[in-house]
Amino acid sequence: MRTPAFLALALLLPAALLAQETPTERDAARDVVQKLDSIEHSLNIPAMVARLTGPNAARDQVVGRAKELMDAELLAMGDDITRHPEIGFEEKRSVQILTDYLKKHDFTVQTGVAGLPTAFVAKYNKNSGTPNLGVIVEYDALRGTKGAFHGDQHSTQGPIGIAAAVAMAEYLTKTHTPGSITVFGTPGEEMMPPEAKTQMYDAHVFDGMDIIVRSHSTAQTSRPAPGFGTCCMNIDGVHYTFYGAPAHQLTAWNGRNALTAVIHFFDNIDGLRSNIRPEARIQGVITEGGAAPNVVPDKTAADFYIRYPDEVYLAQVTEMVDNAARAAALGTGTKVKIDHYGHDRDGISEGSIGEVAFAYMKKYGATGVNPEPGKPQGYDETGSVSSAIPGAEFTAKSSNAPNHTYEMLADATGPVGHAGFVTDAQAMTALLFDFATHADYRATVKKEFDAIHALHNQYLEDLKKVYVVPKVPEP
Ligand SMILES: [Zn+2]
Repeated sequence: MRTPAFLALALLLPAALLAQETPTERDAARDVVQKLDSIEHSLNIPAMVARLTGPNAARDQVVGRAKELMDAELLAMGDDITRHPEIGFEEKRSVQILTDYLKKHDFTVQTGVAGLPTAFVAKYNKNSGTPNLGVIVEYDALRGTKGAFHGDQHSTQGPIGIAAAVAMAEYLTKTHTPGSITVFGTPGEEMMPPEAKTQMYDAHVFDGMDIIVRSHSTAQTSRPAPGFGTCCMNIDGVHYTFYGAPAHQLTAWNGRNALTAVIHFFDNIDGLRSNIRPEARIQGVITEGGAAPNVVPDKTAADFYIRYPDEVYLAQVTEMVDNAARAAALGTGTKVKIDHYGHDRDGISEGSIGEVAFAYMKKYGATGVNPEPGKPQGYDETGSVSSAIPGAEFTAKSSNAPNHTYEMLADATGPVGHAGFVTDAQAMTALLFDFATHADYRATVKKEFDAIHALHNQYLEDLKKVYVVPKVPEP
C-alpha cells in the first residue's frame, strides 16, 4: 500500500465539515475548520498510522494473548451475560461476573462508585507509573415490551474490555514497562437520569487518565473523523412537574387542574415552534396525567428531550420551553417544578487515535468496512468524558442488523458477533500497546487533543456571537 497516506488525507478534509449541521454553524465555524485542517495536515497522521501498525512482534504477542482470553473464556462470558439481561442500574449479576474475573487477574475492585450501586472501578495492582490507560465497559440491557434484552450487545463490552486490559496488564508487569490500567464499569447507558458517565466524571472517577477506550456493537465497521461533535445532537433532558389542588369534578372551582396545565404546556410549545430554528427537536411525553376522572388532578408530569445541533442555541431553546411551562402554570393557577436532569454534549475525536483504531480493526479482520470517515463524535454518549480525555471507540461489525433489534441480540451469540468482538479486543489491545510503548505517539495524541479542545471552545464563542436574542422593547 503506497497511496493510503494521500488518500486518507483527502478523505479527512471534507469530513471535518461534517461536524456542522446548519448553515449558521458552518458560517461560524469557517475559521475553526481551517485551523483544524491545518493541524491534521501538520500531524501527518497517515504516516504515523503506517509506522505504528507495521510489523511488531511484541505487539503481536500481547494481541495474541487478548485473542486467547476471548476464545478460551471471555466469549463464553459474553454469551452468558447476553442470556441474562439486566436493565440499567440493576446490572448486579453482570457486574459480579465481570468484577470476579478482574479480581482473579490482580485488579483491585471498588463497586458503588459515584453513588451508583452498579458502577465500578477496577485498577490493576501489580504495576504503576504512567501512562494511565483506561477502559470503559457497559453492561445494561434494553427495556423491551417482552422484558430486558441485549439488542445493543452491551453484554459483550465487558469481556472485550477485560481481554484488552488483562493482556496489557500482564505485558506491563512482565516487561517492567511503567503504566497503569483501569477498567471503568459504567451502568445504565440506555437510561437517564442519572447520566452515569457524567455523574462519575463529576465525581472525579476518571481523573488522571491519559487515554480511554471502549467498544460498541454496530452493523458497520466505521471511522469517525477528527474534530468535535455528537451522534444525535446536543440534548437537554428536562422533567416538568405541575402541582395543583384536588377537588370533586362537579365542584372543580374548589381545585386547580394540573392536567389542564400540562396540556397548555404542550400547546404553548407548539405555538413557539415557528420562532425556533428548524433544526431543533422538542419532544416530550406526559408521564403522569392524573388518577381518576372525578378528581381534579393535582399532580401531572411531562418528560422532555430538547435537542439542537449545538449547545449554544440549545440553551435558548430550553429557556423558551421552560418559560412555556411557567406560562402554563401561571395561566392555570398551578405551580411547576423544572428539573434539568441530564445533558449530552459534543465529544472530541482525535485522528491520531481513531485512524490507528480503524487500521487495526481492518488488520484483525473487521468486516462490513465503511471507508468514508463519518461525523466527528466522542467515544461516550454524554460527551462528558470524551471532551476531557482522549480516546476512541472500537466498532468492528458485530451484527447484520441495526442496533436495538432482536436480530442484533441473536447475532451477539452467533458467528458475526463473535468475530466482531474478537476483532475489537485485538484492535483495542494493539492501540493500548502503542500508546503505552511510544512516548512520541502519546505526545502526538495530546497535541491533537489540546488543539481540538481549544478549537471547540473557540467555536462555542463564535456561535455565541451569531445567535442574537431578538430584543423586545419594554411596553
Ligand atoms: Zn449502546
